[in-house]
Amino acid sequence: MNNKELFEKSLKYVPGGVHSPVRSFKGLHTTPRFIQSANGAYITDEEGKNYIDFCMSFGPMVLGHRNPTVEAQVREALTRGWTYGACEKYSLELAQFIVDKIDHIDQIRFVNSGTEAVMTAVRLARGVTGKNKIIKFNGCYHGHIDSMLIKAGSGLAGTPEASSQGVTKETAKDTIVCDLNDLDQVKSVLESDKDVAAIFLEPLPANSGILIQTKEYLQGLRDLCDEHNVLLVFDEVISGFRVSFGGMAEDLKISPDIVTYGKVIGGGFPVGAIAAKEKIMSHLAPLGGVYQAGTLSANPVAMIAGLSTLKQCDDNFYLQLYKQAKEITATLNEWMQANGFSDYKIVQYKSLFWPVPTDKDLKRVEDIPSNLLDRFYTLFETLLNKGIYLSPNGYEIGFASIAHNEEVVKDLKERLWN
Ligand SMILES: *Cc1c(COP(=O)(O)O)cnc(C)c1O
Repeated sequence: MNNKELFEKSLKYVPGGVHSPVRSFKGLHTTPRFIQSANGAYITDEEGKNYIDFCMSFGPMVLGHRNPTVEAQVREALTRGWTYGACEKYSLELAQFIVDKIDHIDQIRFVNSGTEAVMTAVRLARGVTGKNKIIKFNGCYHGHIDSMLIKAGSGLAGTPEASSQGVTKETAKDTIVCDLNDLDQVKSVLESDKDVAAIFLEPLPANSGILIQTKEYLQGLRDLCDEHNVLLVFDEVISGFRVSFGGMAEDLKISPDIVTYGKVIGGGFPVGAIAAKEKIMSHLAPLGGVYQAGTLSANPVAMIAGLSTLKQCDDNFYLQLYKQAKEITATLNEWMQANGFSDYKIVQYKSLFWPVPTDKDLKRVEDIPSNLLDRFYTLFETLLNKGIYLSPNGYEIGFASIAHNEEVVKDLKERLWN
């Protein structure tokens, strides 16, 4: 069956044909590709067409697909068993490997996704502080937990509203939604509301395009948290182990109280994590009163995939990754400027990049040009036809991996200019 037939069949058995909405190519004029295999920087669909992949499973595949070392170690692990619901040493090894390299954490607990990590972080922040509310920001994504599917209300008072059906008004009222890059707004919330447990943000907002914040702003949030006895939570599900080993906290030298990880941490297997200093982590069960658990959490196959991935991520690795990513974006940009996309620029932070039709500096959701999606489908489909696969939505960003090397850049040039 070709991609179209497979998708039509999927529509019968799966809501919208997909297991995560962004895969549905909504708003695009072409059909989702069914991927049958992948290798390095490439994915191949069920029709045998291959693409240079810049989606990379939305971030985890920092080494490229089927990194040989990761594959060998995962295969070897499978011969021993893949989940016990009991202690095993690879989760210990991964925990130690991470904690020893990151100053602002003493302990880590593994879960199965970024969503689960943030869910635990919300509960933990409330448990530690004894307070109920959280602050989040317009334009940051934290997975699909009820308390994060909240937007600022449209009414005068700005009462928070659910951004998804099925989230109760009671839940919505405990989440305060602020705008990025506006310290005064957060300051006035904290001065008037003494029930805020934590501020949650992506220190590199990368789920509504890339909205790079200033160091002064993030340091300002850190200072406000200290002043008001509020926890600062960095959601580093995208940025952790990708921009540098210690994520944006390391790049900016700002220490959050709690960090959440996901994506790269499992090397492409389902892993998320929550980490903090011991005095915070000790509130989690079985030591403390904040309950958290997981049948498949820290299963050895996923732990080995994560360990084997992160062991390849040393300082040189990050330098090389950034160097390669710059060549990729320079190549893409040169082609775009000369081929009908000269209204675009590419926002880049290390191996993350986002093509956007503007020449302005973007710090908030409102700064994003309103023609983004209209322009995007032309860009996406033009590139797709050339065998280049971007993340299939204008707000989603591109990811380079260490497999996007010189040879791939050469191939990219050929595909683009042909
Ligand atoms: C992807 C993402 C999540 C959700 O992680 P899942 O593994 O998809 O549940 C949470 N926060 C951020 C910043 C993310 O990028």
